Amino acid sequence: MPAHDVLIIGAGLAGQRAALAAAQEGASVAIMSKVHPVRSHSVAAAGGINAAISVDDDWHSHAYDTVKGSDFLGDQDAIEIMCSQAPAEVMHLEHIGVTFHRNDQGELDLRAFGGASIKRTAYVADITGQAILHVLYEQLMRYHETVERFEEWFTTSLVQDQDGRCCGVVARDVRSGRMETFHAKNVILACGGAGQVYRPTTNALIVTGDGIAQAYRIGAPLMDMEMVQYHPTTLVENGLLITEGARGEGAVLLNSEGERFMEKYAPNKMELASRDVVSRAEQTEILEGRGVGADGAGIYLDITMVPRKRTLEALREIVNIGKDFAGVDITREPIMIRPGQHYIMGGVKTDVDGATSIDGLYAAGEVACVSVHGGNRLGANSLLDTLIFGRRSGEHAARRAASMPMPSPSDAQLHEDVAMIDEIIARERTGRRVSEIKEELGDTMNRLVAVYRDEEGLQEAHEIVGRLKQEAQSAYIDDRGTVFNQDVLGAIELGYMLDCAEAIVVAAIERKESRGAQFRTDFPERNDAEWLKHIDISPNGDGPQVSYSPVTFTQWQPEERKY
Ligand SMILES: Cc1cc2nc3c(=O)[nH]c(=O)nc-3n(C[C@H](O)[C@H](O)[C@H](O)COP(=O)(O)OP(=O)(O)OC[C@H]3O[C@@H](n4cnc5c(N)ncnc54)[C@H](O)[C@@H]3O)c2cc1C
Repeated sequence: MPAHDVLIIGAGLAGQRAALAAAQEGASVAIMSKVHPVRSHSVAAAGGINAAISVDDDWHSHAYDTVKGSDFLGDQDAIEIMCSQAPAEVMHLEHIGVTFHRNDQGELDLRAFGGASIKRTAYVADITGQAILHVLYEQLMRYHETVERFEEWFTTSLVQDQDGRCCGVVARDVRSGRMETFHAKNVILACGGAGQVYRPTTNALIVTGDGIAQAYRIGAPLMDMEMVQYHPTTLVENGLLITEGARGEGAVLLNSEGERFMEKYAPNKMELASRDVVSRAEQTEILEGRGVGADGAGIYLDITMVPRKRTLEALREIVNIGKDFAGVDITREPIMIRPGQHYIMGGVKTDVDGATSIDGLYAAGEVACVSVHGGNRLGANSLLDTLIFGRRSGEHAARRAASMPMPSPSDAQLHEDVAMIDEIIARERTGRRVSEIKEELGDTMNRLVAVYRDEEGLQEAHEIVGRLKQEAQSAYIDDRGTVFNQDVLGAIELGYMLDCAEAIVVAAIERKESRGAQFRTDFPERNDAEWLKHIDISPNGDGPQVSYSPVTFTQWQPEERKY
């Protein structure tokens, strides 16, 4: 029976950073991932990581930009921690081997990113996530005696003791189908976001909201779930991301009239306004008939003015993406993009050490909501969030473990999960396939819970999600085997995605104003008097229950947001 001081679910940047921190505190650690760790979604992160490391910069400026970017919904205590600790974290990464780009003077080079008042994004070409993830994995090897790795193990449930404390998980070995209970003094969820709730999305197939739903199911409140980020530049063909680094290097957005339309929406920051502002501007141009492409549903991103040599060096990945997925050489011609689902600002509500409301349960990274992003995340602040709060969770959980005995949970949850999987595998092949329900969910969310929302559309989405939840109870799969049965895992993931979708829709219906990524055409103004508060979603047996929690202010009062 595996038993550890700290058990981390997820081996992306948040999980690996948490594992290293906990190991350095002397804890026995296990890290579990449903895919090989370096295939975690963090590997896709492209443009970079923010830190006020330039001599002209100051972490207060980074914090203010983040608060403003969040449309004043971000918790300022957490933002201050993240931004003030950013320079040391980035230097630490460099010291352990991340080969950040350097300029001709040999200094760390920084690129411009949206919503930032100065260039503060450190980068490794446009493969920053991959570079950091691989270096952290190397570091994990150094700790192989204290960090046990469970690669290709899928967590199905969190386990609680009689007093409600989280004391382990149930998981399935993907390779063999064997199920086991893992005992732990503390569990850290680092399972990433829930992008697959939408279709298309920039997120990988594995990003299915598992951790968000698992925490929610045992009573941990979710926060800011209505805040879903649409990234301004995703490929029209399939939703693949063209990094904001492109606009950071000087790319511009053009409508069908060849107009650089951001002048109308954000005259100072133009294409480098915050993502919610740029995505809304693009969507408005498309809706008003100034889109490009056969059905007018696209916008041109033109990077041809950037010297070709620089594009090939600093943005080589999107040069390949353009060629392979759109047949466009972005160094010579504009490419068609549109806003696409990219990130979820909401997640499992935590404090600044990653602790949730459930004793023994922590969360860090995209699965969590410490609310550093509030209503809108600034580009290149997510990698930072994963590392700062991953580290803090690991340290805190390790210290907590030092003074407590190893719990010994029963196997009741294991038996329940084994029975649940047997039931899915035994379902008759009638009704709907899991994959059909997933597609309808993604299309619905992208149609009705996107850049622009209104009551009618949100209510329709709510009804559809409710129906899909019913249909998912009997949805069937094809694979009845035990070895690498991704089909059965897909059915479990569908349940997680539906829980996430329901929380998103309920929170979006609740927030009757426009702030950050939530733009309600029926409530187009920001309303600080009534809505400068977080929406928390908890399960109440019948479905989601809404409550509110205050936004934490330290030094910055709300003001009109202009770029
Ligand atoms: C294309 C793209 C580019 C991006 N570029 C940037 C950028 O340049 N800068 C920036 O700041 N942000 C960027 N982001 C956002 C950022 O990459 C993510 O928010 C961040 O990497 C999430 O890291 P994470 O550690 O929280 O989760 P992930 O990296 O998604 O890791 C989740 C882990 O949880 C595991 N897991 C999930 N469910 C289970 C389960 N049931 N059982 C076991 N294991 C499970 C997975 O296997 C994985 O190991 C980008 C996002 C995308 C999609």
